[in-house]
Amino acid sequence: MWNCKHCKVDVSRHNAHPAIDSLGIYFVCPGCFERNPLTGSKRGGVRLQQAAASEALSLNRPFLRSDGDLFFSQTIQNKRLQVQVTRECLDRVFGSDGSVSQDSEVLRVNLNHIVGIATQKQRDGSRSPIKVLCADFGLI
Ligand SMILES: [Zn+2]
Repeated sequence: MWNCKHCKVDVSRHNAHPAIDSLGIYFVCPGCFERNPLTGSKRGGVRLQQAAASEALSLNRPFLRSDGDLFFSQTIQNKRLQVQVTRECLDRVFGSDGSVSQDSEVLRVNLNHIVGIATQKQRDGSRSPIKVLCADFGLI
C-alpha cells in the first residue's frame, strides 16, 4: 500500500502501476493524478521484467529436434500446437546441413513462412503436431 504525498489517500499497488521516466521510478495517484516518486526497497530492490515480445517477432524460437525433425510450439487459432518440420524439408527446401545452428537459422529466417503453411494445414484439419514437409513447398 502506498500513500499519495499530495492528497494523502492510500493507494493500492493494484490501482497505481509503477512507471519510469528520466526522473526515476514513480506512480501516478489515481485520485489526484499527481506524481509520487518511488525508490527500490532494501530487500530485493526493484525488479523489472521485460514484456514478452509478440510470438511472430521472436527471433530465436526455442525448438527441439527428434530424429532430425524440428519441433517448436506455436499458437494457431488460439490453440497451442506443435509444428514439426521434417528433416527432408529442412535439407531439401531450406538447404540446412543438419547442424543445430543451421536448423536454428532456417527457423529464424523462415518462421513466418513455415507458420503460414502450418496455419493452412490446421485449417484443413491437421492435428498437432502439424507436419511441414517437402510437398508443402511443391517438392515431391
Ligand atoms: Zn493523490
